[in-house]
Order: sequence, then structure tokens, then C-alpha cells
Amino acid sequence: MSSPSLRDLTAIAHAVSIPMTTPFRGITTREALIFDAPDGPAEWSPFLEYDDAEAATWLSASLEQGFHQDRVPATTPGTIAVNGTVPAIEAADVPAFLAGLGFPTCVKVKVGGPGSTRATDVARVRAVRGALGATGRIRIDANGSWTLDEAEHAIREMEPLDLDYVEQPVESVSDMAVLRGRMSELGIGIAADESIRRSSDITTVLEAKACDVVVLKVQPLGGIVKALAIAAKAREAGCDVVVSSALETSVGLHYGAKLHHILSTNQPQSLDAGLGTASFLAGDVVTTPLLAHAGQLPVTPPVLDADSLARFAMTNQRREWWLGRLERCLALV
Ligand SMILES: [Mg+2]
Repeated sequence: MSSPSLRDLTAIAHAVSIPMTTPFRGITTREALIFDAPDGPAEWSPFLEYDDAEAATWLSASLEQGFHQDRVPATTPGTIAVNGTVPAIEAADVPAFLAGLGFPTCVKVKVGGPGSTRATDVARVRAVRGALGATGRIRIDANGSWTLDEAEHAIREMEPLDLDYVEQPVESVSDMAVLRGRMSELGIGIAADESIRRSSDITTVLEAKACDVVVLKVQPLGGIVKALAIAAKAREAGCDVVVSSALETSVGLHYGAKLHHILSTNQPQSLDAGLGTASFLAGDVVTTPLLAHAGQLPVTPPVLDADSLARFAMTNQRREWWLGRLERCLALV
């Protein structure tokens, strides 16, 4: 299928705005264009503050989803293992929160964000360890918010809580490499997430020996084919890979599940994916949302739900903003 024109895309675009049940990255509403495309539903949901160049990379992924599925290895994901995600909540609220997720065996804990202190972060992670017991797996994600020293102090304080890895503890690749050297005796890995936003970033990160795990997200990396190429480079360098979401609706999550499924083939030890994020949205756009329970995510191909698309439709003003963004970004793809 050839690439669609702006007119083609506009004709099949549903502009949606879905409230979030828990604020993430400071946002309380998730906006997206959902395309009812020939190869299947596709999602375009770059965060609002992203510039056109970055948003265009996300659009490449959406076009792959909706128009170029023939380029992606054929696969039908079944149920996949996902981590539960604990946002920056009070430690006292952790047990009830994890109970609501059905006590997944692997949990990602958000740390270091706005309003977090080392004390509240440690207390939150300790509460997760208490709720999971000794066999649970814990990874933490600082979204690059720590300085080098803050990261080292926090990780050393959490070391007795048995962490698998720390995702993007600091912002810069060079700091991450230094931190990895300082932490090497602890047996806690470092994962690169925000550091890998363009295909070329992987080379910088691997050459710096800055991480043990590479976080792969379909939309930010420009699609499954590009993500697979990055995964191959990462694995060649001895890094593990983990697939995560970009806080998408179940349409975007489906393609994350597909990437995870392709990468897990012949890799029975693959890391639990970070795709159990649909519950952070107060609604969805498909008939069967991809909701995880107890760390298991049953994946069904997305079928758009007309009532939901209507219920979450953006205002005309917001829709116009998105269509203007689409026009600019399509020119850059
Ligand atoms: Mg992350």
C-alpha cells in the first residue's frame, strides 16, 4: 500500500481526548489521532510539547501500523507478561494499589518525579517490596530526574530492596555511563529509555557503555521495523531489551505487544513488558481494551468502538490543532 495523502489521513482520523485516572508526566488528559486505516487501526499520539521533527517520527510508526503492515513480521500475540506500574503515590497507598492490579509479580515504581524526595521514593519502593514479597521483581524509573549523586545515593539506599534495574536514572548518556561504573558491584542494571529517542541514539548509548537494558517504544522509535533494528544492535552489544508503552490507547499498545511478541520468540527469558498502562486512561477506543490483571495482558487485535470514539471526541478547536500538526509532520515523514 502506498503512503496516504493528508486528505486520506484526515478522512479516516478520529481525534480523541481521554482523561487519565492518574496524572503521568504532569498530564491529566491523553490526546491522540486514531486512524481507521486499511491495514488496521493506527494511533498517532506524540506528547503535546514535542516538536514537529519528533512528532513526525511517531507518525512514521502510525503509518506503518495503518498502511505498511506487510513490512512487519507476521505474528499474533497471545497473552504476554507485563509489569505493574506504581506511580508516585504515597507508600501507605501502595498495598491497595497493587491489590487493584491483581498483584503482578513484576512492578515498575516511578521515582524522582516532581514532589518526590529520596525519603518518599525509598518508602514507596519499600512498600512495593513488602507487598510483593521476596520473589517479586522490582524495577524503578526516574525518567532522568536525578543528578548523578542523587541517583547514586538513592540507588545505594534502595539496594537492600533488591532492584532488577533502574530506568533512566539521570538525563545524560555520559552521566549514565559514570553511574553504571560506580554501581557495577551492586548487580543492579541501568536501563536507557529517554536516551534512545532517535534510531541513531542507540549507537551513542552503546558506545558509551551506558546501559544494560534498552527500553523500546514503538511510536517514539518510528515503528516496529526500526525498533527491531535497534533491538538487534542492543543485543549484539550484550544488552537486554524491554518493550514499553508511550501511554497509548489500546491501539498503540497492540503494536507494542506485537513488538514484544516478535522479540520474545526464541527468548523465553524476555523481560516483562511495560505495556499494562491502559488502566491509566479513564477510557479507551476499542471494543476490548488491553487491560492487564496479575501481570498478564491478553492481547486481542484492536477493533475500534464507535461509541467510545464519539464519547472521547476532541473539541473542534483541539481537532484543528491536531490536523494542523498532522499536515506539518506528514511533510517531514
Ligand atoms: Mg521510562
